[in-house]
Amino acid sequence: MSMFDDVPVDVGVIYEGERIRWADAHMELGGPRIERKFELVRARPMDKVKDGEIKIIGPDIKDMEKKSYPIGILVEVAGKEVEEELEGVIERRIHEYCNYIEGLMHVNQRYDVWLRLSEKSFKKGLNTFTMIGKVLYRLYKNELPIIEKIQITFFTDKAKVDEMYEMAMKVYEARDARARGLRDEDVTEFYGCNLCQSFAPTHSCVITPQRYANCGAISWFDGRAAARVDPKGPIFKISKGECLDPIKGEYSGANESLKKNTMGTITRVQLYTAFGYPHTSCGCFEAAAFYIPEVDGLGIVHRGYKGTAVNGLTFSAIADSTAGGRQVDGFHGISFEYMRSPKFLQADDGWNRIVWMPKDAKERVKDFIPAEVIDKIATEEDVSTVEELAAFLKEKKHPVVERWKAMPVKAPAEEKAEAAKEEEFVMPMPPTAAVPIGGGFKIILKDAKIYAKKIRIVRETD
Ligand code: SF4
Repeated sequence: MSMFDDVPVDVGVIYEGERIRWADAHMELGGPRIERKFELVRARPMDKVKDGEIKIIGPDIKDMEKKSYPIGILVEVAGKEVEEELEGVIERRIHEYCNYIEGLMHVNQRYDVWLRLSEKSFKKGLNTFTMIGKVLYRLYKNELPIIEKIQITFFTDKAKVDEMYEMAMKVYEARDARARGLRDEDVTEFYGCNLCQSFAPTHSCVITPQRYANCGAISWFDGRAAARVDPKGPIFKISKGECLDPIKGEYSGANESLKKNTMGTITRVQLYTAFGYPHTSCGCFEAAAFYIPEVDGLGIVHRGYKGTAVNGLTFSAIADSTAGGRQVDGFHGISFEYMRSPKFLQADDGWNRIVWMPKDAKERVKDFIPAEVIDKIATEEDVSTVEELAAFLKEKKHPVVERWKAMPVKAPAEEKAEAAKEEEFVMPMPPTAAVPIGGGFKIILKDAKIYAKKIRIVRETD
């Protein structure tokens, strides 16, 4: 039974977080196999928007087979209170509303969108973008009453998507540039966002002027605008509180917000570091920072990078090790805009600690990397193993090499030999296991797998 008579599938918050595997998909739009895709909201004058109009430029769902297709979603909105400042916030709702549709999965944002439609929902009759447009139209009108008029265009024609993509990238850049210049010290409030909790229940973003949201889609200004127009919505104000550590970026207000919004799972966050209490990571971050112990440096890998990072892992493998709302020492999700911030990993030595990143990612932020270190950061074109990376850093006199003296690292070859001995160990568990913890209590583990880097079997002595 659908919420809307003219939409053959159900629509509701219960479908948020629904994952659709390729085996169960009818087709997908955007995603890693498609180079250019986008979603964009533009605020327009009242007379430039035809309320309720839904257009499709290119093949519709019913013309598609099990393949990946280009996609562009353009939402044009108008209203007396609708300003350009709200575009980013309205745009992020595309993610939320698409995920309300049974059998439609939407992940990521902006130039990186990825949608999948399940075969089941297609068979139920969800076979045209017009239906998706109708759902978006009604949810927008219902939840954001400041929007008086709305028209939606779906682009699936490759040439048109390519053309619109260029324009969309310029809009994103202009939006991000507007938010640069304001410092965290200059404001009394930050903003929080719980939009990704459907996928990562213990993830809650803390958005500051100098730490852009992980997804790269919400700036501090966007947060402020969202909290103003929809005070009960998923984006809310955080009183900054007391600054507990200006270098690591720890604020009492951010800690309290995390505690409240993660049901006590996360109690501390340090905004400008990858170590200790890094920001939690949901799943839609644009890039991830990862620690490379052999050289005591940090690597960065972004979502669009198809190869393996210098540590031999793909973006997905690195993302999996930190996603899901966890706080993982040495690993965390970041946005490109945060890489442009003067506060970028400042507690870890900032750019002086970055040792490797894909060429493509480096190109995007090159104007923000200090001139004295830019050529010392290796890319996939310079090195392909950690051993080669260590030699490269030494030859280029990367600032991280100084750290090796203070805390000598083992020669990478030596590390490798040791690592080979430490095979990943997966402890087989019965479907349900009870672990006594004393005091009359036990922990019940159901369908658990325990991974360990190393296992030592020690004979018990009396
Ligand atoms: S990454 Fe953070 S800011 Fe972006 S939508 Fe998710 S929770 Fe909100």
